[in-house]
Amino acid sequence: MIQLSNITKVYKTKNGDLTAVQGVDLSIEQGEIFGIIGYSGAGKSTMIRLLNGLEKPTTGEVIVNGENIAQVSGAKLRQARQKISMIFQHFNLLWSRTVEENISFPLEIAGVSKSKRAIRVQELIELVGLKGREQAYPSQLSGGQKQRVGIARALANNPEVLLCDEATSALDPETTEAILELLLDINKKLGLTIVLITHEMHVIRKICHRVAVMEAGQVVEQGKVLEVFQNP
Ligand code: ADP
Ligand code: ADP
Repeated sequence: MIQLSNITKVYKTKNGDLTAVQGVDLSIEQGEIFGIIGYSGAGKSTMIRLLNGLEKPTTGEVIVNGENIAQVSGAKLRQARQKISMIFQHFNLLWSRTVEENISFPLEIAGVSKSKRAIRVQELIELVGLKGREQAYPSQLSGGQKQRVGIARALANNPEVLLCDEATSALDPETTEAILELLLDINKKLGLTIVLITHEMHVIRKICHRVAVMEAGQVVEQGKVLEVFQNP
């Protein structure tokens, strides 16, 4: 469902060219939870920005559902990007809006009617376990609850892929466990493809089916989690 072929990304900087990603090949299957792990600077964020079309590769193809998102632009790119949703380390919620309004926001942008929005928001609230918190503001929520809002908002328009950008890195270990459980649950229930980047091995071990290990812009190893991270 997602195919990256021979991806290279070179940034032009004032100190010259910087190769952030080099010769990466990856294929991610529908319904799988795929992890990309690496230290800071390995190229993980660049990979995520390539996957959601925010960044164009210098060379190579990014095929999502048969569409080369590295080639399209304008309305076509926006259309392709509607299938791809994202959650963030720092949640990126709208602080002056309630839980309900945050989740409803992408539906409003998509032109969904008020009555349909209300129904969909209730479904999402139940799915992520936020019943009773509809009218709260982000500042009144715990970190885990904020990420639940982020997840509900990301799922609002039924994406095919959920990209997770260090989604548990700002959370304590217990909350991390709970959010990872929720992602597992959503993957099973909805068959949603999940791609996550992290620098934390335990996140990969807990929920990923397959993993790619990045070092200095290259994928140095990939495969099933149990095979890549075999205990000695
Ligand atoms: P990671 O997410 O694994 O920390 P990044 O993709 O953020 O890695 O960064 C990979 C390399 O690319 C780093 O050397 C970083 O400084 C550089 N880089 C990332 N984004 C940019 C940018 N917009 N402009 C220039 N260099 C960048
Ligand atoms: P709106 O246009 O819906 O009123 P806001 O002004 O509440 O939006 O927020 C705009 C963006 O600024 C949000 O995406 C949020 O991430 C950020 N932001 C606003 N207030 C805060 C805050 N107190 N702390 C951190 N980020 C904030």
